[in-house]
Amino acid sequence: MVNKKVKKVKIARQLMPEQEPAVRAKNFEEVPIGQNLETAILEASRCIQCKKPACVEGCPVGVDIPGFIKFIQEGKISDAISKIWEKNSLPAVCGRVCPQEMQCEGNCIVGKKGEPVAIGNLERFVADYERKNRSAVKPQKAALTGKKVAVVGSGPSGLTVASDLILKGHEVTIFEAFHKPGGVLVYGIPEFRLPKEIVFSEVAGLEELGAKLECNAVIGRSMTIEELFADGYDAIYLGVGAGLPTFLNIPGENLTGVFSANEYLTRSNLMKAYLFPEYDTPVIKGKNVITLVAEKVVLV
Ligand SMILES: Cc1cc2nc3c(=O)[nH]c(=O)nc-3n(C[C@H](O)[C@H](O)[C@H](O)COP(=O)(O)OP(=O)(O)OC[C@H]3O[C@@H](n4cnc5c(N)ncnc54)[C@H](O)[C@@H]3O)c2cc1C
Ligand code: SF4
Repeated sequence: MVNKKVKKVKIARQLMPEQEPAVRAKNFEEVPIGQNLETAILEASRCIQCKKPACVEGCPVGVDIPGFIKFIQEGKISDAISKIWEKNSLPAVCGRVCPQEMQCEGNCIVGKKGEPVAIGNLERFVADYERKNRSAVKPQKAALTGKKVAVVGSGPSGLTVASDLILKGHEVTIFEAFHKPGGVLVYGIPEFRLPKEIVFSEVAGLEELGAKLECNAVIGRSMTIEELFADGYDAIYLGVGAGLPTFLNIPGENLTGVFSANEYLTRSNLMKAYLFPEYDTPVIKGKNVITLVAEKVVLV
């Protein structure tokens, strides 16, 4: 426990332990290693529990940040995750990839005269702690409504909607075109920044709550919207993202070695081309690469 005589503002921001540069240069594993309970409580103790928490104003989903941090200060991690779940169903993801420096942490009062409270790291800590000790608590579900909703797309948008609806008591089925759920979280964001296992674990939590997931289901091809309604769905949420590449219609763009950004990312991340030939999908590693961005040509 933190010595109360130590002024909160005097406690330095707890640094997130990371893989050593020489080690991480040779692997694709997550760079930050994560905090332990002791350093998380110490970091949480830096929060001065503002009466008007500016951090919450900076959070797009309005998580009760001082509320969950207070629970960490008291060592009540199950209560902390329940508090976060009230507003955010993907804390392990958001704790890793939200731009906190521009949102909650960018607004933190402690940050006006020093380093802001590490809100993102604390959110990540709570989510990881809960994942390792799954069983501890579950989000509260309302009574069943008898309504059935189809969610098309399993990116963060679809997963969040599915979670909100299942907690409101509706029956939810998520239809995903790819063979794995997660959208850009798995095909766009690299493993060293957001491990796929984290995303799949959040999806598993959603399934435990009762959401059904159907992969390899391209809505509009394997099943139409009309067919979904005819199948008894009362509502359909389209969370299909913006994954279709826009080509420039220039000569040579179909040649081998020319990729759209999405194809390159999907090969590299979802299909694990960086582990070829252990995984089947190859990707071309060029020493000279041209990146075409709309009207600009950038040489890298
Ligand atoms: C390389 C990259 C890095 C990023 N890094 C960050 C970051 O660090 N932090 C951050 O906050 N944001 C980041 N973003 C942005 C963020 O990932 C997107 O804003 C977010 O994923 C959008 O979520 P979504 O659910 O709307 O769409 P998507 O994530 O695109 O998910 C849509 C899903 O719908 C599925 N789908 C599409 N059509 C159909 C269909 N007909 N039937 C069934 N399923 C279908 C797709 O397969 C996909 O799984 C990044 C984006 C990219 C590309
Ligand atoms: S603004 Fe900073 S110090 Fe104030 S409640 Fe939020 S996290 Fe705590």
